[in-house]
Amino acid sequence: MDGSSAYQNRKRSDIGKSAVALLYSGNFRTLDTLMMFIDPHAHMISRTTEDYQAMAASGVVAVIEPAFWLGQPRTHVGSYIDYLSSILGFERFRAGQFGMRHYCTIGLNSKEANNEELAEAVMEILPRFALKEGVVAIGEIGYDEQTELEDRYFRQQLELAKELELPVMVHTPHRDKKRGTSRSMDVCIEHGIDPSMVVIDHNNEETVKEVLDRGFWAAFSIYPSTKMGNERMVDILSDYGANRIIVDSACDWGISEPLGVAKTASLALKRGIPEENVRLACYQNALDAYSQSGQMKESDWLDPAPIDQRTVYEGNSILRGGREPLVQESAPSRSTDNLIIE
Ligand SMILES: [Zn+2]
Repeated sequence: MDGSSAYQNRKRSDIGKSAVALLYSGNFRTLDTLMMFIDPHAHMISRTTEDYQAMAASGVVAVIEPAFWLGQPRTHVGSYIDYLSSILGFERFRAGQFGMRHYCTIGLNSKEANNEELAEAVMEILPRFALKEGVVAIGEIGYDEQTELEDRYFRQQLELAKELELPVMVHTPHRDKKRGTSRSMDVCIEHGIDPSMVVIDHNNEETVKEVLDRGFWAAFSIYPSTKMGNERMVDILSDYGANRIIVDSACDWGISEPLGVAKTASLALKRGIPEENVRLACYQNALDAYSQSGQMKESDWLDPAPIDQRTVYEGNSILRGGREPLVQESAPSRSTDNLIIE
């Protein structure tokens, strides 16, 4: 065997050990060795099966789906109940069919907090959803236009997080971001919540220093055009290191990038960011922050259940029109050494 085919075989066998990558040829490879990633902010309910396949093939082993706004405002609490049930139920099932673990955060988002009648009804039903399996935080909550109603329900949900001993995922506003971010942290402190229990999300160059100085987790959404590009993200990793920094895609129904975490990791390594810092920002810090809920642990994906696409969820499977299901006898186990899947 000559050198180049040995290389090809090694690469292929690296991929072959990853359950999902095995199935989807033409998979996305960012790195010479496949690292494990967590995307701790991804609205998978808005994404396609191809996104799941590409994310899994790029090394994403777990996603966190924050409850959020649908683009179309909900007018009844019933729509909220069905939405929360969907992300906790069918979406988790769907992710599992692609070999990915799926967790949720539960909350009333800031935009809909401005509909007082709806907000009151949602606050009544939130506790029972927040207690469900796989809920790793209250979120995404915080400010949008920084109105009085947003402030009221942000505070009430911080109290709920405190009572349930859950971490908090804070959405920071697009407009007047710096002031909104400082204010979000002030309010968390005012409610007696330890900064180590709070992930401040959608940071940028303007906000990162204060968030880190005050001891909060600083998350960055690699979201094209509006939030952060990944070249800027790599500059932040190079200026600040990776302690308490978390990278996510925030992919949703807008023009967004489900491979945001994997692509940023790849770019960071290319630009000379130490592998350990890439591992912290694209995997370990999210695990450390959200595992404080007691609902997320590494063994969830290191020792996964085998994929069986014949499985049904309340009578429905992800298969349509007589497709051949994928069935694994046993799941390939993954190693944590260096985050490289062997
Ligand atoms: Zn979001």
